[in-house]
Amino acid sequence: MSSLRSVLDELRSGELGSLSDAELGVRVDELERAARVIGAERPRCLVEVERRGVHAADGQLSAAAWLAHRHGIPQGIVAGRVQVARALVEMPRAAEALREGEISDSAVEALVRARDAAPEAFAQEEEVLVDSAKTLSYRDLRVALDRWRDGVNAAHAARDEQERHARRRFTAVVGLGGIVRTNGELDPENGQYVITALRAKVDAWLRGRTEDTRLPAQRRADALGEICREWLDLAERPSIGGERPHVVVTMNVEALRARAGGRASLEDVGTITAESARRLACDASITRVITDARSEPLELGRKTKVVPAALHRAVAVRDGGCRFPGCERPPGWTDAHHVRHWADGGETGLSNLVLLCRPHHRVIHRGFGVAMIDGRPEFRRPDGTLLEDRAPPATAA
Ligand SMILES: [Zn+2]
Ligand SMILES: [Zn+2]
Repeated sequence: MSSLRSVLDELRSGELGSLSDAELGVRVDELERAARVIGAERPRCLVEVERRGVHAADGQLSAAAWLAHRHGIPQGIVAGRVQVARALVEMPRAAEALREGEISDSAVEALVRARDAAPEAFAQEEEVLVDSAKTLSYRDLRVALDRWRDGVNAAHAARDEQERHARRRFTAVVGLGGIVRTNGELDPENGQYVITALRAKVDAWLRGRTEDTRLPAQRRADALGEICREWLDLAERPSIGGERPHVVVTMNVEALRARAGGRASLEDVGTITAESARRLACDASITRVITDARSEPLELGRKTKVVPAALHRAVAVRDGGCRFPGCERPPGWTDAHHVRHWADGGETGLSNLVLLCRPHHRVIHRGFGVAMIDGRPEFRRPDGTLLEDRAPPATAA
């Protein structure tokens, strides 16, 4: 280091006036090259300071703080230098070019910024990029590096999208007690469809005037089931093996007629209560009857609605929505409930049907009563007491 100091002393004392123009030019070139060599050596030493923890011995928390304190340089400038020094450890060709005085400090900083944006791609293309830094002006180098970064980002974006798409998966597994556990990761596109559909469903419920006490997560679970159910009910759905897939309820005659000892189950999730089975059957037709000497099981499907569309519309015009006292859910969210179940001989006609929203349809099949009195439904609690009804619709038939 003492020789370096003596060279610097010699430089300082030299008389510039005695130099020819050409000599002055050579001197400026040499100084620039010397500055670059020093500029390359500085980060190398800084990294070593950091590695050894020299700054800690002086009670400084980082190499940057140590240097800033030692030489009274603003922390921000020092932090930038340390960042470049660290990056150069991973940029062997840029470090070499800097040591040889072939590229400037500014060019190195531009290269470090480019590397920050895409370290892996930079490692692969470092040689070409450093060569450009050797030949291009600083301005042109920045334009070239910006263009390189945009290209890499575009390639990355396309690859990332493919990776996300490949990761998509969805499972629905039946667990204990018939609980269906769903789990999955959707690619952005499908995820957007799901979020939009669930939100539309939930928003429609929230806009309704009826109080909704469900938790948000419960609402989303109901919305998913509802969306699938609506799709299954679509008439123009594709058929598989000549039949449109439908939910199959298997139950014995006792369950269907609400006699004691009834058993019922759904195809995949297993046992359900006889009440639920009757509710599901309320608006669905029997598609197949299998008679067994002992249990007489019946197979029910939702393939065809018991209540034809025209009749459903007539009931909707008459009732205007769920008829349960105090409920104002619109016809779109309702089932046509058989006041006297068709399994018990009730007819599928206007006088035996009443619109109920899904939650109230459950309530009715769980013990509340409904009877038609003079063409108007009358609701009773399980203990037989009457529930006050809302005013009859203006278009009462
Ligand atoms: Zn019903
Ligand atoms: Zn209701």
